[in-house]
Amino acid sequence: MPMEGLEVTACERCPDLCESRSRIVNGVGPADADLVFVGEAPGANEDEQGEPFVGRSGTVLDDALRDVGLARADVRITNCVRCRPPENRDPTNAELDNCREYLETELRRLDPELVVTLGKVPSEHLLDRSVAVTSEAGEVFDARVGDATYRLLVCVHPAATLYDRSQEETFTDAIEAAAELAGVGDADGGQSRLGDY
Ligand code: SF4
Repeated sequence: MPMEGLEVTACERCPDLCESRSRIVNGVGPADADLVFVGEAPGANEDEQGEPFVGRSGTVLDDALRDVGLARADVRITNCVRCRPPENRDPTNAELDNCREYLETELRRLDPELVVTLGKVPSEHLLDRSVAVTSEAGEVFDARVGDATYRLLVCVHPAATLYDRSQEETFTDAIEAAAELAGVGDADGGQSRLGDY
């Protein structure tokens, strides 16, 4: 498998995405992060910069993290598929399946306290069922991913807050719950805050 550490360095499993991507966008953040955010797929900004959740969605996520005492560098942020779909369409089931092995490997190596899914696609992909994201946001479930089970908290996509202001509280409440569940600031070795600045 062309995966070095937590990074996929070469992959051509998805013909359409190989056409539309500029690069493979791997996850970012510490290899021992207790809190892992999983999005759907890179968009135009992510494809250009080679990092998940940059641009306006990334700013919303960064702001919410800062409000609970975390910096982007304190958490892991990754996606279900690592290459930008054409015209920002949803990844197909085949593409999600193609890339799942990488996500499973990433999660197995991180062994996080909590996985947070940002939006419908990653929530349904990892819970393997239909998810009503707005009404289930902030709820925690067991998710079987590969040969491991993780605690998974459902969250709305940060972009949802840009188009529907009523989603802001849902989003920030879920991020707050996630920080607490991941043990932010715990004296017993939970996730550190703001890189222990
Ligand atoms: S999305 Fe994943 S499986 Fe598909 S080509 Fe990119 S790295 Fe490979």
